[in-house]
Amino acid sequence: MKISKLGEFGLIEKVIAPEFRELVNKHLTGIGDDSAIIPISQHTSHLHTTDMLVENTHFLREKIAPYQLGFKSLSVNLSDIAAMGGKPLASYLSIGLPKDMEVEWMEEFMRGYKDLSEDEDVPLLGGDTTSSQAGIVINVGVTGEIDNQLIKKRSDARDGDIVCVTGDVGDSAGGLQVILDNLPQDQVSSKLLDQHLTPYPHVSEGIWLASQPAVRAMMDVSDGIGSDLQHILKASQLKGYVELEKVPMSLELREQAGIYQWNPLELAISGGEDYVLLLTVDPAGYEQLGRDFEAEFGRPLHAIGYLAAGEPGITYLKDNQEVKDLKEGYRHF
Ligand code: ADP
Ligand code: MG
Repeated sequence: MKISKLGEFGLIEKVIAPEFRELVNKHLTGIGDDSAIIPISQHTSHLHTTDMLVENTHFLREKIAPYQLGFKSLSVNLSDIAAMGGKPLASYLSIGLPKDMEVEWMEEFMRGYKDLSEDEDVPLLGGDTTSSQAGIVINVGVTGEIDNQLIKKRSDARDGDIVCVTGDVGDSAGGLQVILDNLPQDQVSSKLLDQHLTPYPHVSEGIWLASQPAVRAMMDVSDGIGSDLQHILKASQLKGYVELEKVPMSLELREQAGIYQWNPLELAISGGEDYVLLLTVDPAGYEQLGRDFEAEFGRPLHAIGYLAAGEPGITYLKDNQEVKDLKEGYRHF
């Protein structure tokens, strides 16, 4: 059987994870959340995460500056620590490079990697460097730390929770479209491109949200809320409703979508690589949390739906009416 038949998650669930169920003892949380959790004391756990970026799968060498690629390689990993509510401690960088790469390319890559490392106070502590005959291959690992009481897992959601995101979704997918269609760069498309090429991880937001008792489950948006919310629903055994009119999209995405006849909602739901946080909130604490979030970060926490008892799966609503085909739903916007 070809691996494409199983897909990424099928491969992880059916081939990779089962082999290790016995070795992963009950004190450890392994495959299935944004980061692994290893308790190191009664009060504290370490978090570990790793993510790979492969040339022509995750990026096109001619379409991303080395500075941006260095920044993004670290960013997507810090985002998985943020998703648990953790504070990143250190990073590890392994890189495979074709022999004919320029040293200046690597210098620029490291400048981007270091700028974000400095911003978030995360030292690079090791890695591996090798030649590659199959294009550029990058793997970053990040460790983090969190108070045991504050860890936010995908499985912590409850019936009735409100589903929220910490920022706009869809810009990154719009930026990718700008790249793929070779669209001109102007102020509007640059905003989308920046979000795609140098997403900023919501580490401060994650740490702050983890300290709020009203916050229950949390993860980061790497594959798009339509796919990522499913992970929370599956892990928590609940069904979800997404109210399409509440999904936050930037003015730039709407404007660009208008010009090129994109479906902005489709990009926002299924595009991915936004690296905002997706969380579920106790309805009793939601209003206060929203006010406090806005006071802390100067922008709103967006409620986009809610959870209910039932088979895991998402129902999309527009003005309280079920939207069966998302593309159909979009045409009304
Ligand atoms: P994320 O998007 O948050 O980085 P992924 O969707 O890449 O998460 O992975 C889902 C889960 O599967 C994570 O817990 C990840 O650690 C685990 N995982 C993915 N690939 C492998 C692998 N090759 N071996 C072990 N665990 C894996
Ligand atoms: Mg993640």
